Amino acid sequence: MTSSNLTRGGAGTGTVYLVGAGPGDPDLLTLRAARLLMNALLIVHDGLVDPAVLAMAPAGARFISVAKSRARHTLRQHEINALLVREALAGHDVVRLKGGDPFVFGRGGEEVEACRAAGVPVEVVPGISAAMAAGAAAQIPLTHRDSASVVSFVAGQCKGLTEQNWAGLAGVGRTLVIYMGVATSDMIAEKLMADGLAPDMPLAVIENAGRPEMRVLRGPLAGLGTLVADNAVKSPALIVVGEVTARDDVALTQIAEMAA
Ligand code: SAH
Repeated sequence: MTSSNLTRGGAGTGTVYLVGAGPGDPDLLTLRAARLLMNALLIVHDGLVDPAVLAMAPAGARFISVAKSRARHTLRQHEINALLVREALAGHDVVRLKGGDPFVFGRGGEEVEACRAAGVPVEVVPGISAAMAAGAAAQIPLTHRDSASVVSFVAGQCKGLTEQNWAGLAGVGRTLVIYMGVATSDMIAEKLMADGLAPDMPLAVIENAGRPEMRVLRGPLAGLGTLVADNAVKSPALIVVGEVTARDDVALTQIAEMAA
């Protein structure tokens, strides 16, 4: 299973490569992802995958978008699974590109299970997840010896938000990274404060991390909903809760104290 022997149809079953496309900048692909992409004949991709990444595929590659679109019927997950299996059983190698990392809120696990159940060889290539991309681009360390020794990733979409138990994931010495939380930011702030977080716990909202149009907004937990609404924050964005988001303030205070 090397990137150089990708096949188009023919005898045998193809392989499904579940590839993390990272945050968008092609420089942030792994070499393995880049090699697979540059040899791909069939690419199945999500909406989050940046056009600059797709542009690395060879001329003549076939693209199938399973992105959400108002203009046409959106494929449901089981239909995507069936598509991958069908193409592989027809003998085609499939490069299945997903934003960030396939196994971080990417439903990669479901696609791997579907392939395995159908006897289709599947390989997973990790990608830089939005949390890592956002941390690097905004220079917010997710852990820091003075500020956080725990980091957690959670999904903030409305479905099931109230049933999710986040107790203990955020607070002093801990960083909480919330994916898909923009639409429910009001509820998220309330949920965290109900769990005992201080209203003035610092946070950052990072929109379009790692892209030229990136915005980094900061404020206290209690003001999260207002911060998102006043700045018309749009998806994709992450909410990072914890002292690591206020390291600049700490550093500036220390410098001011030393100068005094
Ligand atoms: N598998 C992806 C996550 C998919 S879920 C990964 O590992 O990154 C989609 C959510 O990811 C978005 O709602 C947003 O919260 C986050 N996200 C993806 N790309 C982002 C970006 N460039 N900037 C900020 N958040 C991003």
